[in-house]
Amino acid sequence: MTKTVKDYIRSIVDFPHEGIIFRDVTTLFADARGFRMAVDQLLTPYTGMNIDKVVGLEARGFILGGAVAHQLSTGFVPIRKKGKLPGAVISEAYTLEYGEAVVEIHDDALKPGERVLIVDDLLATGGTAAAGITLCERLGAKVVGCAFVIDLPALGGRELLESLGHEVHALTS
Ligand code: IMP
Repeated sequence: MTKTVKDYIRSIVDFPHEGIIFRDVTTLFADARGFRMAVDQLLTPYTGMNIDKVVGLEARGFILGGAVAHQLSTGFVPIRKKGKLPGAVISEAYTLEYGEAVVEIHDDALKPGERVLIVDDLLATGGTAAAGITLCERLGAKVVGCAFVIDLPALGGRELLESLGHEVHALTS
């Protein structure tokens, strides 16, 4: 039977903490057919749309987002964890299960009115993606899509992004 994107993803039990089942996409990325399928399916809804930049969320969003940007012939912009970007940044904090995280974007990475596609490997609570969207919007860009390989709907991320007015495109749950 033909393999789907989901078939290339493995689950690692008790990583990074006991009780967590971590979805490991490195096995998807390592397979030529799987990786191409994932990238092609991620960008399908956006072909022919006017997109200026793909924004990838650290770290696996860089791998996927870079490939998607190449295919769509757009630029690529990274959103990184605090302290990693070398130039002047704007920051956005968001709540984690335990504590807080901060993500950053270069303050000149997007121009007002630019149309942006956000890419990451996995949507869980949606906190990371929502913070990423806020950063793009603070620079005046318009987020026209949010694409993920995996959506874990029970964790509420899709609901959160949709409540903020954003459409979610995901390949598997
Ligand atoms: P959220 O902010 O709760 O939606 O978590 C999504 C972020 O955490 C993304 O950047 C993911 O890469 C990462 N993440 C959370 N759980 C997993 C997992 O099981 N596998 C891979 N990445 C994960």
